[in-house]
Amino acid sequence: MKALVYEEYTTDNDFAKILKIKDIDEPKPKPKEVVFKVKAAALNYDDIWGMRGKPIEIPMPHISGTDAAGEVVVVGEDVKNIKIGDRIVSHGNLSCRTCKACTSGREYDCRDRKIWGFETGPLWGGFCEYTHLPEVNVVKIPENVSYDEAAAASMTLLTSWHMLVGRAKIRPGQTVLVMGGGSGMGTFGIQISKLYNCDVIVTASSDKLDKCKELGADYAVDHRKEDWHKEVRRISKEIAKKKGKDVGIDVIYEHIGGTHWNKELTLLKYGGTIVTTGATTGYDVQTDLRHVFFKGTNILGSTQGTRAELEQGLYWMSQDKIKAIIDSEYTFEQAAEAHTKMLKGKGLFGKILMKPD
Ligand SMILES: [Zn+2]
Repeated sequence: MKALVYEEYTTDNDFAKILKIKDIDEPKPKPKEVVFKVKAAALNYDDIWGMRGKPIEIPMPHISGTDAAGEVVVVGEDVKNIKIGDRIVSHGNLSCRTCKACTSGREYDCRDRKIWGFETGPLWGGFCEYTHLPEVNVVKIPENVSYDEAAAASMTLLTSWHMLVGRAKIRPGQTVLVMGGGSGMGTFGIQISKLYNCDVIVTASSDKLDKCKELGADYAVDHRKEDWHKEVRRISKEIAKKKGKDVGIDVIYEHIGGTHWNKELTLLKYGGTIVTTGATTGYDVQTDLRHVFFKGTNILGSTQGTRAELEQGLYWMSQDKIKAIIDSEYTFEQAAEAHTKMLKGKGLFGKILMKPD
């Protein structure tokens, strides 16, 4: 079968130099695994970290791909709830399922947790014609959700849902600030906040502001402007006046980091919550502690989520309340171009898909 494979790292983001299409053996399932024919897979930043070998080294030869959707073609002898022909999508969070964290419903805190297609291998990820996963790491796709939408949702939807619903405990009527609204994470952050009937302010680069509003954001602010936070403050006053609420933000959905962090803290209400899952513009941030202790601020970290949370998110997709935004689609042969597009991020809105054919 066809697979997108690399056997060496790149130090200069020259993905074309290392990515090769190879013919490898089709996988056979272990007793509790299913094998599925990949119909669509989505790109994530961990694909790039893998090719760089930073921040961690990964098993070689390597197949990337954490989000894959497809049709089940073989099931292992101990598989219980999945059958041949089922439409499934990966839940790429491989945890042990027996430790204290796993058995108390916090599979994302498992010390043995591995991200499929990033930390797994050799040759075990989603960017190939047929791949395999434990039954517990696949979720059935609801009828009116396509393979493309399911692949584009998977890890991003799961992570967003866990941040807002699982960690920040979002409530109807709150004012939510979604940072980086134009990214895959941002598009789900906006829609989940609107699903909870919140007032949503989003930040994005100027070319993406209108698209964020089309997705449901009530207000959109250009976060490349130095004083973007003052604009958010002004808007939060406007919302407070209109709706009879206190001025400020209840929940900040953060995955950017960098110089935005400290400005974000100034915007929170007393007792407000900032939930963070990433730091694409820098992790070594400055924190004015007065905004933390004096205002009783909740700072929450978040990584991935549970399989049940992915199922909840997919349910709301099937109800047309949340949609996966797909930026573009590439073949495996065009993989270097696709990853370069994700890396540059210019004009990108939503997820990039890749398909075997
Ligand atoms: Zn565990």
